[in-house]
Amino acid sequence: MRFWLVFVIVPALVIVGGISFLAWRQGVPGVRAELAPPLRYIGLKTPLGLTLTAARGGVESAELRLVQGQGRAVLARQSFSGGALQQRIQLTVEGAGLGLREGAATLEVFARDGFWRPLRVDDRPVLTVPVMLDLTAPSLEVVSSTRYLAQGGGGLVVFRARGAARLGVNAGGRFLPAYPVGPADAGLFAAMVALPWDAPTSAPIAVTAQDEAGNTASRPVSSEIKPRRFPAGTVDLKPEFLAAKLPELLPGRGAVAPEQVLPAFLTVNRDQRRTAEQTKRELAARTAPRPLWQGAFLQPRNTKVFSNFAETRVYRYRGQDVDSQVHLGYDLASVRQSPVPAANSGAVVFAGPLTIYGNTVVVDHGLGLMTLYAHLSAMSVKEGEEVQKGQEIGRTGATGLALGDHLHYEVLIHGISVTPLEWWDARWIRDHIGKPLREANVALLEADQPAPDSEERPPAPARTRRSARPR
Ligand SMILES: [Zn+2]
Repeated sequence: MRFWLVFVIVPALVIVGGISFLAWRQGVPGVRAELAPPLRYIGLKTPLGLTLTAARGGVESAELRLVQGQGRAVLARQSFSGGALQQRIQLTVEGAGLGLREGAATLEVFARDGFWRPLRVDDRPVLTVPVMLDLTAPSLEVVSSTRYLAQGGGGLVVFRARGAARLGVNAGGRFLPAYPVGPADAGLFAAMVALPWDAPTSAPIAVTAQDEAGNTASRPVSSEIKPRRFPAGTVDLKPEFLAAKLPELLPGRGAVAPEQVLPAFLTVNRDQRRTAEQTKRELAARTAPRPLWQGAFLQPRNTKVFSNFAETRVYRYRGQDVDSQVHLGYDLASVRQSPVPAANSGAVVFAGPLTIYGNTVVVDHGLGLMTLYAHLSAMSVKEGEEVQKGQEIGRTGATGLALGDHLHYEVLIHGISVTPLEWWDARWIRDHIGKPLREANVALLEADQPAPDSEERPPAPARTRRSARPR
């Protein structure tokens, strides 16, 4: 044993170990920064969310800068204690207060962790992102609008906008998109407006325009909302009706035990109804950006309205009030399996079973306007097919939550159910949809025609006949 070797090997090991240790320290990655959502523009008010992740030692501090040539603005400077490996910075950048010009700029993120390294590496940004600084809100001006709207009714607004990416109307708490109309360089847009049946008459209506940077302009629309009275009714649920219907509405569940009839019905009446409402909203996104319809909408021949729009129904079962729902269309009765005509020209966007509505066809008429035909026994059109006004699209029936053969008919504007009465009335269309277009000099609809024959005239909404059958 050559003892003196210890004096060579041990220091060598210490040196090698020390160097390896320092190299490892130096090699541990620094803080990683991630923007979510991604950032492309900085506008007058832009939300910015940044996640900082340290591999070791915890995030200690961060600084966000916006750099433009020689110009520089510090957006945030933050220190953290506690040594957490992840930190989130959330702020709203007010672009106009930065002292920078509109145009290209770079967001730089600096961050350091609490991990010691032989050489400092935090003088370089951990993230750089090219952004556009846009400090100009879109220009926006209301040109014309339907003067009188009603609860559960429709209308139209024409406005002029420049420099916007997202345009529409906020009405009754909902956003209704707009579509370009008129000559390409006129900057004109039209949006159909719908007020839910329960929108307050004081509901604010405003056009809004937003650009890519999120800069938003908004102008009030001077329409008046008239109140409407809606009926109330009662539906008596017969146990034998439910026993016969529930297996159809809850397929895969098999026979429903007597004590399960009521909860099963409530699942159908609440959850399936909600699902159908969701589907209506989703279908709205598939509307054509121009009107496909012309003139008054057709009421099927020889039909009577036996249940009204926005009727609040209390459901009774074995002498108890068990549920309450609002009926969002007209029930039209004629003879069994009568032909169902497309109320106007358009394109089929849905044809199939739709929860409580049974076999259902939805026809898009453009600009967000659609008609829905439910409880059909047969459907003679397919999704994607174009239909002409009056063309047979199916036959009435009793599929879904319907006992008697009838047509459940709805008019939808961007998925919001409105009264069908307005659209059966050529004069209403002329005064409420045609007029704002004429005032804006936009030729979007054919020359307004009077209703060609008495069958297209609006029938007075019949009083709801009390009936023991669920509709
Ligand atoms: Zn109905």
